[in-house]
Amino acid sequence: MYRSILVPIDISEADLTRHVVPQVQAHAKTAKVHFLAVIPTVPFYASLGLAYSSEFPDRSGLQAKASEKLEEIVKQFNIPAGRSQIHVVYGPPKDQILKLAEAVDAELIVIASHKPGFSTYLLGSTASAVVRHAKCPVLVVR
Ligand code: ADP
Repeated sequence: MYRSILVPIDISEADLTRHVVPQVQAHAKTAKVHFLAVIPTVPFYASLGLAYSSEFPDRSGLQAKASEKLEEIVKQFNIPAGRSQIHVVYGPPKDQILKLAEAVDAELIVIASHKPGFSTYLLGSTASAVVRHAKCPVLVVR
């Protein structure tokens, strides 16, 4: 029986979560489920030519909005309140997913293979990095 499960959620792809829900429910049982949304910051904004400070979107505002959205998405999973926890952090998604997996002692990571619409054999860049580097089993949902 798993005690701690990590479910990274791409909040910009709400549809993606649908396939993950039954898999998480099947494995969660009595486990604590950590839901994580990563806001990709520096490379993203840097690529738009934005610097920090005034040009940078308000961090805490963004984080609050992302938390709201993640909470909304998490409702679909029907995990009892005491057994689910949401996390919203900034950084490169794959690094932050691996980092939180260690921090919460995840025994399983449940991740969608890629965005819908792409070929079914494809493993997205975040998913493949997590599969490659995680220290616990990873369930890739297709
Ligand atoms: P694609 O390249 O098709 O977007 P990804 O590998 O990036 O595929 O995404 C697959 C899965 O990785 C998502 O369903 C989600 O579980 C996780 N993921 C991707 N980006 C993020 C993010 N910013 N925050 C949390 N999880 C993410």
